[in-house]
Amino acid sequence: MLYNSPFRHVDTKENLQKVKAYNNVIVFGTGNLGNIVIAALKKEGINVLFLTDNNRSKWNTEIHGYKVVPPKELKKTNNETPIILASDLTFPYMHRQLKEMGLTNVFDADFLLEKLDLEIDDLHKMGVYWSKVKIKQKIDLYLYDINSQKNKNSELNVRCVDLVLTEKCSLKCAGCSNLMQYYAKPVDEDFDQCIKSIDTFMNTIDYVYEIRVLGGEPLMYKRIDEVIKHLYKYENYGKLQINTNGTICPKPEKMEVFKNDKVFFDISDYGEKSRNLDKLVSELKRLGIRYNAARSLEWQDCGRIIETNRKEEHNKEVFGNCCENQGLTILHGKLYLCPFQANATNLKAIPYFTKEIIELENHNRDELRDLIHDLYFKTEYLEACKSCNGRDHNVAKIEAAVQMKTPVKYDFINIKI
Ligand code: SF4
Ligand code: SF4
Repeated sequence: MLYNSPFRHVDTKENLQKVKAYNNVIVFGTGNLGNIVIAALKKEGINVLFLTDNNRSKWNTEIHGYKVVPPKELKKTNNETPIILASDLTFPYMHRQLKEMGLTNVFDADFLLEKLDLEIDDLHKMGVYWSKVKIKQKIDLYLYDINSQKNKNSELNVRCVDLVLTEKCSLKCAGCSNLMQYYAKPVDEDFDQCIKSIDTFMNTIDYVYEIRVLGGEPLMYKRIDEVIKHLYKYENYGKLQINTNGTICPKPEKMEVFKNDKVFFDISDYGEKSRNLDKLVSELKRLGIRYNAARSLEWQDCGRIIETNRKEEHNKEVFGNCCENQGLTILHGKLYLCPFQANATNLKAIPYFTKEIIELENHNRDELRDLIHDLYFKTEYLEACKSCNGRDHNVAKIEAAVQMKTPVKYDFINIKI
């Protein structure tokens, strides 16, 4: 068996039977998850009629011999063919999209993926070259998310939270999606504030799958070891990820603190700019700390604060397709829904939208749970999206990590609600 879910799933057996009662299905999503879903459908003997995707560049192409149509064409199906959602990051938006079209014969893919009785070669044939470890990581997270959505009225389980330790970075990248290139006078997070925010957040939510410790460059934060030790006091999270750019390798005594099964170093390899990458990797190997160092050559063009003039529907689409639309971010005692919103607001480049920002110390636990629930599960778009280029497959690509000499100058954008 290629994959077996560690989670408990409900309705999956019934859903498999319901789908099998039809002659054909449509698969919504043509990325790696879509390919895995097609392989799983074939194994179950279920026929795929055609594919659809929100990525416009895929429209009217053929993938694995299946035509890819724009989602708006699904309306014609009149609920006569089941639609299987096969996207890990944007399936909540797909549900909303289809509901607005009156389509209800819609299924998440948990009934196909909870047990994947396939061989790795079956996925290679579909163009999926993930390792078994990566398959497990990706499907685990997807199924965790599906369950979080299904149980949202009784539990507060979220995908991830970014803990911003500093606005400082050892690089100054022109297209930084966290907007570090705009900070003229970057500051560190106040340590006591940071600890307080961690305590409030972790004591409010039920579970967070991944805590991402980042900046700027989090290894520039002098007390990072104390923050990490503090996080070890909590058990209600799965993974503690350090996002770093390979320019800094902390001293051996400081590295020791990262020796923990939950810790994972996600290193962006920017070639020569990541000047201490080899040293850092050899330290991580020596200490047996998990890591991944991926060469980064291009980014999406999403690190700009811009004026847009989109209609409401378009803002919903940009938000719905965005890979950070549930990217909770803690910055200076406030909880935001995405890192762009956090930093654009912190830079005072856009107005402070009180309804979309949670001041972590201003509420009791029950109030906070309600506020986080609504922000995380109910938002259809943020006011900040109106000043953002979006983060999805429709956004143009740019060269990664082009360095700037001076911070980017900007004007306040007076976004109208
Ligand atoms: S993208 Fe560049 S500027 Fe932004 S945090 Fe990473 S290394 Fe720093
Ligand atoms: S502001 Fe909106 S579109 Fe931009 S990254 Fe955040 S959620 Fe995505």
